[in-house]
Amino acid sequence: MSTPAGIVAEHPLQALNTLRLPCVAEYFAPVVSLAELQQCLALARDRGWPVTVLGGGSNVVLPERMEGLVIANRIAGRELLSGAGAEAVLRVGAGGNWHELVRFTLAQGWCGLENLSLIPGNAGAAPIQNIGAYGVELAEQFVELDACRVTDGAVRTFSLRDCEFGYRDSVFKRDCRDAYVIVSITLRLGTGDRVKTDYAELARELEQAGLEKPTPLQVSDAVIRIRSRKLPDPAEIGNAGSFFKNPVISEAHFLRLQESEPGIVGHRQPSGEYKVAAGWLIDRAGWKGHRDGAVGVHDRQALVLVHDGTGAAHDLLRLAAAVRADISMRFGIELEIEPRVYA
Ligand code: FAD
Ligand code: NAP
Repeated sequence: MSTPAGIVAEHPLQALNTLRLPCVAEYFAPVVSLAELQQCLALARDRGWPVTVLGGGSNVVLPERMEGLVIANRIAGRELLSGAGAEAVLRVGAGGNWHELVRFTLAQGWCGLENLSLIPGNAGAAPIQNIGAYGVELAEQFVELDACRVTDGAVRTFSLRDCEFGYRDSVFKRDCRDAYVIVSITLRLGTGDRVKTDYAELARELEQAGLEKPTPLQVSDAVIRIRSRKLPDPAEIGNAGSFFKNPVISEAHFLRLQESEPGIVGHRQPSGEYKVAAGWLIDRAGWKGHRDGAVGVHDRQALVLVHDGTGAAHDLLRLAAAVRADISMRFGIELEIEPRVYA
């Protein structure tokens, strides 16, 4: 069967995922517009190819081979829908880089995204897990998104409510998983100097810099400094950020653990449950800095698994399984993998 124009057969994806896992896509197509996306989806339907969407590849575990069509979403563009008064409403293409968007909004004098600085990946993937960091989640600035249905190419608008955002979670990880390709997202940003700096590590960084009343841009700079110190740069060593979600456990379970582990890090949730720092558990269990051939546990942040580029998904998943089993045995907590595993 011939390969249609714009679609490449047997395309390597190792440079297109931040874990640097070797992977070959049976078919691969970068798309820069809604029309191109709809054409690709129609073709995939005709040929019976399964479809996978890739953004910046910073939250995926890829197998050595992806059957069907991998679509790289490169739909760019920014449109100011309203800029009057105390807020700006901005629609952005799903294929734009997230961090560039954050810095662009700050340069315009708009606030709200500063705590989400330096998160890798594209704008279109931000709603998938309701990206969050330093006390802020995407949902707080989110208005709506447009997405194209894989089965027939129809475009649907999802409101904040439709997205069912939760902690690193949305409807796109559950009922609508793999059913839509997000083409744009719309955000509401403040035009004042309101900032959220109560997250302990951020507050400390700002205090040390002598910034009592930081501007949104100064908060963004502080977040960038903290992240650059603490997190491995995917350009230097393959990783997908946090490999496990922070587990939420009952108060009774947390208090029981606290008796034998007084240093355990947990934060009480409005529900009365506790969100436990998974990185603390993994560190406490002795995994920090552990290496197993091509893969390992990062030596500064135990929640991050790393890959030196010479292994494959099964090496990483074997290590993840060993960590999960150990944490389950020691603390009675079942860790959940955060990135999307295709392997
Ligand atoms: P990809 O990895 O390409 O895709 C992730 C999933 O989303 C896949 O299932 C994919 O099919 C789907 N997807 C992507 N684009 C679309 C689309 N347009 N339509 C439909 N589905 C789509 N995350 C946080 O929440 N907070 C952090 O602080 C954070 N820090 C990180 C730090 C590092 C160093 C790294 C490597 C990762 C970090 N992450 C963090 C995880 C990751 O950056 C985010 O989840 C990001 O939003 C993923 O974007 P992406 O474009 O790379 O998505
Ligand atoms: P950290 O500051 O060492 O904190 C450890 C954990 O405790 C965090 O995961 C955080 O949960 C929780 N926590 C800390 N202060 C809290 C508070 N005031 N209220 C509620 N929970 C609190 O975490 P870190 O690893 O250095 O990461 C810093 C931030 O960047 C975190 O928000 C983290 O989620 C985010 N991050 C995410 C990824 C990813 O791939 N998902 C990768 C790197 C960093 P929360 O995670 O809910 O904040």
